[in-house]
Amino acid sequence: MNGPSPRRLWRYLTGPLRLGTFFRSPGDGRRQPQIAAQALYGALLMGQLLRQYSFHAVEALVCSPARRALAVRTSFGDDALAYFTERLDADCTRRAAAGVVSRAKRNKAFQDSAFIGLALDGTSSSRCRRPRCPWCRPFRNQRKQIVGYRHQLTMISVVGTGLSLPFDVEPYGPGDSEYRAGQRLLRRAVQNLGSRFADYVVVDGEFATAPFLHTADQLRLKVVARLKDNLPELLAAAQQRFGSQPPQLCFEEGQDRVEVWDAEDFDPWESLQWQSVRVLRYRQVKPSGEVIEAYWLTNFSPRRVSSRTLYRMAKSRWEIENQGFNDAKNRHGLKHICHHEANSLLVQWLILVLALTLERLYRLRYLHRGTHPVRTAMELLRLFWLSLSPPKAPDSS
Ligand SMILES: [Zn+2]
Repeated sequence: MNGPSPRRLWRYLTGPLRLGTFFRSPGDGRRQPQIAAQALYGALLMGQLLRQYSFHAVEALVCSPARRALAVRTSFGDDALAYFTERLDADCTRRAAAGVVSRAKRNKAFQDSAFIGLALDGTSSSRCRRPRCPWCRPFRNQRKQIVGYRHQLTMISVVGTGLSLPFDVEPYGPGDSEYRAGQRLLRRAVQNLGSRFADYVVVDGEFATAPFLHTADQLRLKVVARLKDNLPELLAAAQQRFGSQPPQLCFEEGQDRVEVWDAEDFDPWESLQWQSVRVLRYRQVKPSGEVIEAYWLTNFSPRRVSSRTLYRMAKSRWEIENQGFNDAKNRHGLKHICHHEANSLLVQWLILVLALTLERLYRLRYLHRGTHPVRTAMELLRLFWLSLSPPKAPDSS
């Protein structure tokens, strides 16, 4: 069979994506390793790509006849994965993922996009009844009683390019916050990607605070942020002005009709060191009659970014929800705890987002050369599974 297979994917990763050196030395912190780090790391990555993310499932794969087809050289148990991930340097995977995304840009993976965005948001992953690691954050019922613990993290992804590529996460434990973790994540992302990689960062309303916007300014990123009632004065001013005006622009986007209002001369709130704030309001009318209305703020000038482009940038935030959190939770086990230890959890989350990005680059760019249609993620997964069984000798009876 000549179609895509885990082995051919591995050749793509170690060839065109140049991850071979990283896989041989992925930040192994074990003192006297018996099993090569590449076998353990490769198996975790292949497990993610086959949506077999639990350590028991990875053990079953590498102890089966499928191991050779997965390009994993040796078998091992789930305890070896726990020991390995507890000691693996997470920053090595972060730098490798950013390196892959940077290489994608150099290889013109985003060439059809005038602007490259970064979307950043927080979510909760796995839950437990008792705190067992430094990232276990209590969550409370309406009477403020602790009813359990959960892990929370911020994720960052390339968006707005037709290719959603998540590449880093930052967890936050008790006493920390989504918004502080988001600032650390954004700083590290720009450090790993380079300051000229992206044009803007798109975020939900809780990040629309002066310190976060100033962090983006320092990193030379424009901001596109949802304007909600946590900024009541600006929101009220925009509602009052746009409420008395007809829309400045109407256009069709897919099957939807979109009306936009756009003005660049709103006053910044007291702590925001901007000259003025541009606010966009849109009303999106679906064929069913459903209306979605939202306000967004930005420091992009209308000369550089039109109302219609700004609308699309705002909508690119959904990629972190859909292609980031939803895929990670529903298909790749973000809510599953393989081994409840802080570094092991972090490494599992990072390998998960790396796997999402590698699968998309392989499927949507590398395999898509030529004229054949784009394969869906499910079609590629099916081809991977079909390629795993060893060829049988022909039946001559
Ligand atoms: Zn925990």
